[in-house]
Amino acid sequence: MPNNKSTIYRGRFAPSPTGSVHFGTLVAAVGSYLQAKANHGEWLIRIEDVDTTRTIDGSDKEILKTLEAFGFEWDGEIIDQSQQTEHYQQALESLMAQSLIFPCTCSRKQLAETNSKIYPGTCRSNKLPVSDEHALRLLTHDITIEFDDIVMGEQSQNIKQECGDFVIKRRDKLFAYQLAVVVDDARQNITEIVRGADLLDSTQRQIYLQQLLGYPTPAYCHLPLAVDSDENKISKSEGTSKIDIKNREKQLCDVLKFLGQLPPADLSASTINDIWSWAITHWDITRVPTKTHIQPVLSQK
Ligand code: GLU
Ligand code: ZN
Repeated sequence: MPNNKSTIYRGRFAPSPTGSVHFGTLVAAVGSYLQAKANHGEWLIRIEDVDTTRTIDGSDKEILKTLEAFGFEWDGEIIDQSQQTEHYQQALESLMAQSLIFPCTCSRKQLAETNSKIYPGTCRSNKLPVSDEHALRLLTHDITIEFDDIVMGEQSQNIKQECGDFVIKRRDKLFAYQLAVVVDDARQNITEIVRGADLLDSTQRQIYLQQLLGYPTPAYCHLPLAVDSDENKISKSEGTSKIDIKNREKQLCDVLKFLGQLPPADLSASTINDIWSWAITHWDITRVPTKTHIQPVLSQK
């Protein structure tokens, strides 16, 4: 019997509930949605609230309300990372059983003094358990992880030299995003990940974890990040990029243009349903720009 589970396309959109919906959020939502629809696949939503210190109350509801108003249709249950702790713990235990986890007792000051973004491996020979007051890091090996991103092309990173031993569980006892995302994508059988290019450099760490945990590696597709004139991620700043559902037709067309699609000039005067049917029929991933940072052109509101 063929296993349908492994052949169906499963994509996802995984917003962090850290504020209002901005143009950048919509780019990741639209790109992942169209790629799933064009592949006759499923599209899931996951609320990435693993870092509860950044969660803004009500932001998850606002994101879902906005998606609904735009006419997105999702499959299955929405999961919240804050409810998945037992699964992250199991993955951590599997890494511990492989002697790949060590407690890092470095203070913030010590880490700042190393003058390097890459952890120098100071605590590598610390044995578990210390107390649970300390961060837990993954012992990385001197290996190069490569993948062929559907939009951005060939990517490669030496995990030990270019990234270093990274945090799996933080000193405030929260699991790190890198572990959470890998566990969730595997548990939800995600076959392709479409998201913003700010996560391009995290992908090798995630593939490395998938290999250590015995999970399959999905395909990856990173979309250009919408930035302001200072190259800052647009979703982090208030202002014109905030999504207003009153202008959803224009904003959806702006996103399509940002993603290199060629909507007819009068498409934004159509209904939202007509825009979606044009977008799904004409979606062409090969038209998405291969630049990682782009300043969007937004229509007048
Ligand atoms: N939660 C992340 C964000 O909102 C996305 C993570 C992902 O798609 O893997 O930027
Ligand atoms: Zn340390």
